[in-house]
This record gives sequence, structure tokens and C-alpha cells, in this order.
Amino acid sequence: MTTSHETLQGNTATPALIDMRDVIKVYSTAAGDFTALKGINVDIRAGEFLGVIGKSGAGKSTFLNMITGVDDITTGRVIIRANGADVHVHDLNEDALALWRGKTLGVVFQSFQLLPMLTLIENITLPMDLCGLYRPRRSRQRALELLEMVELEEHANKLPAFISGGQQQRVAIARALANDPPILVADEPTGSLDSVTSDHIFELFERLVQEQGKTIVMVTHDKSIAPRFSRTLRIVDGELADPIEEDETASEPEANKSPKKKRKWLW
Ligand code: ADP
Repeated sequence: MTTSHETLQGNTATPALIDMRDVIKVYSTAAGDFTALKGINVDIRAGEFLGVIGKSGAGKSTFLNMITGVDDITTGRVIIRANGADVHVHDLNEDALALWRGKTLGVVFQSFQLLPMLTLIENITLPMDLCGLYRPRRSRQRALELLEMVELEEHANKLPAFISGGQQQRVAIARALANDPPILVADEPTGSLDSVTSDHIFELFERLVQEQGKTIVMVTHDKSIAPRFSRTLRIVDGELADPIEEDETASEPEANKSPKKKRKWLW
């Protein structure tokens, strides 16, 4: 087990994009206080595809929530150096945090969380309109380009209920990219998808890192995909643990793997 005071670092040549220092998160419940993160120290570098693995209840979602600032930190700090600013995430007030988050972080959830009454293109346009980075005509054009990128442009005017789960997740990824944030945060993004669809979604994330230079922090409980990340953190009971042992990363036999279809991507 890595001690809580030890820093897990990627390539140290450049300053960390995401800098987590002594992060402690305590939830107050009717049954008493519960410490979900027990002093996390991590540097995440630009261009990393970081996998965060661990059992259910280990603290993975809490870890992501400390990066996005959607939940308060108890002690410690999270600094994100993006778009020319060093931001102490938990020092921002609610309005400033919402604006900063819109431009800096795209978030992808297991349950997609598309707005059911909006068409696909409207779902993608919404964060652009809320952030005000693009004029309305440009935001619609950009939403169409993002839909093209995930090969769903012909469905632009459908409601989410009329496309498959894998397609909805591709729309959710397009929505996360709407304001062109440098960082994507994904919480079990393939958790409700079959293995072939999951693989396509994972390939999409890989391409975003390789071809667009995005930095991705992805939570998963699927240890078998750990070798595909550029780096993996393991959380055990709210603490960072040693990288997973060999037997835990053992890959599936070739015969069980889903066949890889050649995909067309437009960037
Ligand atoms: P994981 O994502 O690894 O499944 P979580 O970060 O969701 O784990 O939760 C870590 C621990 O914190 C769990 O024991 C969970 O029950 C607890 N927890 C999470 N959110 C809350 C909350 N809002 N209030 C109280 N306890 C919580």
C-alpha cells in the first residue's frame, strides 16, 4: 500500500495539470462521520489517460467529485492548471465554479444523463449556450461537427429514447466535448454497455487522447482494461494502493475478445 503522504506522479517533466494534495473527504451521516478519502496525493499530467480502479465503495466517484468540485472537500486542495489559469477548485464560489467547470472539464456518466426532452443536437448545444463561448449559430454548427465525429449526424434531430445505449453514450461524449475542455472525467462510462459497445466507447476515448491531446480520468471497476490506460491508480478503502498485481491484469484469452471493427473517425 502506498502511504497517504506519498505522491503518485506521471512524467514529471511538465507541471501537473491536476494536482491533488492531502485530499480528505469525510461524509457526515446519521450513523456518524465516514472518511471516504484518507489523504490522496496525485499529480495528473496533460495527455494522460488515467484509469482509476477499485472495488465498489472504494472511493472512486468521490475521487472524481474532488476533481470536478461537485462536492465539497473536507481538507486538502485540488489545483487545476488549464486554459492559462491555476485554479484552486474548492476555493471557487458556486457561480465561478460552474463557469470554470463548463470550460475546463467535460463529464461523462455511466447513465449518459442526456436530457430526454431535447434532441441530440440540442443536448450538445446546451452546454455551449450556457457557457457562452460560441455564438448560437456557431454552437449549432459545432454540435453537428461533434455528432459527425461520433458518427451520429443522421440522428441529430431524434430524442435520446430513440437511439441505443451505446449511441447515447457517444452523444454524451460529444456533449462533454462541446466547450472543447482539456480534461474529460468519466465515471464508469461503459458500465451499462455490452462488451463490443464498451470497446467502441473506449476506442473513442483513446482517440481523444492520442489525436486531440485530451487528458482523461476514467473510473472503472473493470480491471481487465487496466493495461489500456497510460497509467492506473488503484483505490482501496479511500487510499491509493500499489499498482495492480500481475494476476489482476491478466487479459482475456484471445478467443474471448470481441472482434475489432475498423472505425472511421473524422478528426
Ligand atoms: P466508488 O465510486 O468506489 O463505488 P464512492 O466514492 O461512491 O465509491 O463511495 C465511497 C464511500 O463513501 C462508500 O462507502 C459510500 O457509501 C460513501 N459515500 C459516498 N457518497 C456518500 C454520501 N453522499 N454520504 C455518505 N456516504 C457516502
